[in-house]
Amino acid sequence: MNNSILVFSDLDGTLLDHHTYSFSAAVPTLSKLAEHDIPVIPTTSKTYAELKQIRNDLGLDTPFIVENGAAIFIPIGFFTEQPKDTVEKNGFWIKEFSKPVSYWRALLGQLKTDFEGKFNHFANMSTSEIVDATGLSDEQAEQAGAREYGEPILWLSDQDTKIQFLKALERLGAKPLQGGRFLHLSGQCDKGKALLWLKELFEITHSDNTYTSIALGDGQNDVAMLNAADIAVRILSPVNEPPTLTKENDVHTTKRFGPEGWADSLNQIIFNC
Ligand SMILES: [Mg+2]
Repeated sequence: MNNSILVFSDLDGTLLDHHTYSFSAAVPTLSKLAEHDIPVIPTTSKTYAELKQIRNDLGLDTPFIVENGAAIFIPIGFFTEQPKDTVEKNGFWIKEFSKPVSYWRALLGQLKTDFEGKFNHFANMSTSEIVDATGLSDEQAEQAGAREYGEPILWLSDQDTKIQFLKALERLGAKPLQGGRFLHLSGQCDKGKALLWLKELFEITHSDNTYTSIALGDGQNDVAMLNAADIAVRILSPVNEPPTLTKENDVHTTKRFGPEGWADSLNQIIFNC
């Protein structure tokens, strides 16, 4: 049996620099992974609209996981047959784990009075407000606003009120997740469930192969993915502590931030250099 590697990678603060969104430090390693046919699967809080551009920039034609595990996009033909439980749209087979964004926006509407002025969210924000909150360009901010499954919330008040807010959301059946900048609101999906579903699909479709998953992430919204992976890499962040995991073995923490740490760890784990 062959053993193949699957790399599941967060983007912001992991493969992309937290401040500049640059991935230049990771380019040589990305090329090396491509030469060895090791798929890099972006696993991100970003939208499909954002990923279209970023995949192009990164030179990736692999499947990808958007909106914190809300959906997996598999390029048509990546596997020989259309995987079960997927829908076909825009050249992709899509596995959806979440209700549509309209559902979550309606739910947030129920908390507007109790938490008046304490939060903002994407549907309410102009492109320039998103630019201010993220440092993205106008075009990127527009793509970021094109949510299909979950809604990012910008918290504007103190920590104690935030805890009340989170509890209220959970009572309404939501599963809010803290990312680097935003609180992400969606259903019972996460990057970990998506990783396991996709890894199983690789195993089913290539039954002569076994797979080892390596996941890399820098934030709270990566915890489920890091715990679910065979090998977890916590990427050092300039803005938050490395996420706390329940997984104990095969956990690495990088010494450098973002894409530098990303490249260091994969070179060490896969290529022993
Ligand atoms: Mg991140």
